Amino acid sequence: MITAIAGVNWGDEGKGRMVDLLANDYEIVARYQGGNNAGHTVVNEKGKFILNLLPSGILREDVVNVMGNGMVIDIEHLHGEVGRLIEAGVNVSPKNLKISDKAIICMPYHVMQDCLEEERLKDAKYGSTRRGIAPVYSDKYSKKGIRMGDLLYPEALKKRLKEIVEWKNLTIKGVYDAEEVTYDNMLNWLETYGNEFKEYVCDTGVFLNDAAKEGKDIMFEAQLGALRDIDFGIYPFTSSSSTIAAYAPIGAGIPNRKLDYSLGIMKAYSTCVGEGPFTCEMFGPEADDLRKEGFEYGAATGRPRRVGPFDVVASRYGVRCQGADEIALTKLDVLSYLDEIPVCTKYDVDGVLVEDFPTGKALDIAKPVVEYVKGWKVDISKCRKLEDLPKEAVEYIKYIERTVDCRIKYVSVGPERDDYLTMF
Ligand code: GDP
Repeated sequence: MITAIAGVNWGDEGKGRMVDLLANDYEIVARYQGGNNAGHTVVNEKGKFILNLLPSGILREDVVNVMGNGMVIDIEHLHGEVGRLIEAGVNVSPKNLKISDKAIICMPYHVMQDCLEEERLKDAKYGSTRRGIAPVYSDKYSKKGIRMGDLLYPEALKKRLKEIVEWKNLTIKGVYDAEEVTYDNMLNWLETYGNEFKEYVCDTGVFLNDAAKEGKDIMFEAQLGALRDIDFGIYPFTSSSSTIAAYAPIGAGIPNRKLDYSLGIMKAYSTCVGEGPFTCEMFGPEADDLRKEGFEYGAATGRPRRVGPFDVVASRYGVRCQGADEIALTKLDVLSYLDEIPVCTKYDVDGVLVEDFPTGKALDIAKPVVEYVKGWKVDISKCRKLEDLPKEAVEYIKYIERTVDCRIKYVSVGPERDDYLTMF
């Protein structure tokens, strides 16, 4: 079976935790987009891990992990991430980690360019995580990227690097009047961190296609959510890659294969990191309480997340974008403190009630229409069966299910591996 696990909302839905849980049923977990600009948090018996680049299956023995061609990889960051796992006793080797020869390397000048541009924009900034992601994807599509496979051919790499550094300095110096990068430093960086990963580099398409032919179970793991997708998200406050499940076979290396199943990860309330329209946003003490209860601070950046109630308009759109067959609803336990649970059911766009997720100016001016449903006010974090849940919690789940028009299969009630129940 070929499955995609993708975020329905703005990211931070708890995908890492669901992949870690479900990875047990899969032989391969593959990341297909993004870089180290977001983090998955996984808590299990070995400890608490924040994974930025590595697929969450890395914490499962027997799972082979793939970093696909759709990814952008900062090899210095990868070096640190792998090092921390090895220190914690997790096995990482070319046997359980395969890196696509077509994945693009996120270079130090991409990080530099990202920071320079955010500083130039000042108050109009996009809220970039400053990890170089937009510049490296821009270079990919400008055909000025350096790929992981280039590390295997040092002489050709040197020639290409020379040309690219020369070209990049035109921007660094000409646009930003910043200090140029040198070819020697960039080569040194590539050698220092690249050599470590040469043995991991391969054609992940061949690997995955063979595995699919043999009937192995493959899971694609997304970073961020539908509303951060470069095409379908809250552009331009999106990520720079496709976070959509349908892109997974392409970004992993097997465009010839179709998904058998898409699981959308959806949060029981809303959070959003950084800038951009977030219609259902709450402010003041109401927001502070939710942020505190849900511990909503960015895994990669530590930034406090913006919070709001469950957003029907955005989530129904996210479910559609992800082609979700079923949903895992996460962090339901967080809402246990509320007497009444707010839900954003529609948007008011200049006096017109809207149920389809708008874009552009309409999204900017949209106001939330909020209704309240009854809360349950008891700790549900120990519930492991549907029958354990209070009636109001089941009603909340059913209500959400109806509004987004998709079955909820899993309900997560805590961060640890076994803190969940299934609805059927
Ligand atoms: P991801 O990027 O989608 O994997 O999400 P993050 O890792 O940024 O955020 C999820 C956070 O919520 C992590 O700290 C998880 O440990 C935690 N978490 C995941 N599911 C649950 C849940 O059902 N209940 C609670 N209380 N925490 C959860």
